[in-house]
Amino acid sequence: MPVDSIPKVVGMAYAVVATLTIVYLLRRGVFSRKAGYLFLVASTLVGFLVTAPMLPNQLQTLLLGNTRQLDAPVAIAVLVLVLFVVLAFAFGRVFCGYACPIGALQELAYHLPVKKLRVRSKAVPIVFRLLFFLAFVVLAVTWSIGILKYLGIADFFHLNLDSAFSYSFLALVIMSTFLYRPFCAFLCPYGALQALASIKARFKLRRTELCIDCGKCEQVCPTNEAGRTGLKQECYMCNRCREVCPVDAIQYARKQVAGQQEDPGMPQPARVSGKRSRTTRLTDQT
Ligand code: SF4
Ligand code: SF4
Repeated sequence: MPVDSIPKVVGMAYAVVATLTIVYLLRRGVFSRKAGYLFLVASTLVGFLVTAPMLPNQLQTLLLGNTRQLDAPVAIAVLVLVLFVVLAFAFGRVFCGYACPIGALQELAYHLPVKKLRVRSKAVPIVFRLLFFLAFVVLAVTWSIGILKYLGIADFFHLNLDSAFSYSFLALVIMSTFLYRPFCAFLCPYGALQALASIKARFKLRRTELCIDCGKCEQVCPTNEAGRTGLKQECYMCNRCREVCPVDAIQYARKQVAGQQEDPGMPQPARVSGKRSRTTRLTDQT
């Protein structure tokens, strides 16, 4: 299915533009789930058409030293990997949330109306992914084994149905209909780096003082990251929490600096019930 005449750099450029656009919309307070769907569909299509940006695979290719498979100079490939980690450090996992075709396809699959299986522990997927990350690095560096090949991501997005591996990823996509982003949560080595960077993200979804502790956001969050505290490294900006909040208390804002009353760039929540126009302060402790 990939269109050979489209260079992979187009997929990379799309991811940069999509990520920065979403950050802008989040900052303006106008990023809705409908807009999110558009990006998810676009990113999935880009994945099938260009097979880029497949950053987990790119990371593996670099570790294996297969630089001829990169379709780009090594420096550019490294730069792209570093760039999205830096963006996660500043803005959280917007790339994972919407611009990565692998994540986007799983997110779309999760929207299918089937009964969901919720993993209530935050630690279990993180520890599992950490162990997988260690295996990924050791196998690649020590024995030149690319473990992701067996998960068939590239084969799947190439629609290479002759490869048995493409069915491994198909199984993960089917699993995504009832389990939230199984590849991202349990396996992705690049997602592990994104999660690490986003722990210290300057901008995150945070609660303001409007919060009435109704707990609705925590009920709908598929990654258990909607609590008032927590590192939010598994938050994919899916917007489910914001959508259910009855008082518009969740905002994409930067951490409050001591002595500062509020994030100056934060949009004011003036429209809840048409009553509220006062300024708000962040109360989220992350
Ligand atoms: S965790 Fe990995 S597969 Fe999932 S969206 Fe992030 S980079 Fe893509
Ligand atoms: S529900 Fe909210 S906290 Fe949970 S992953 Fe989605 S955006 Fe992040």
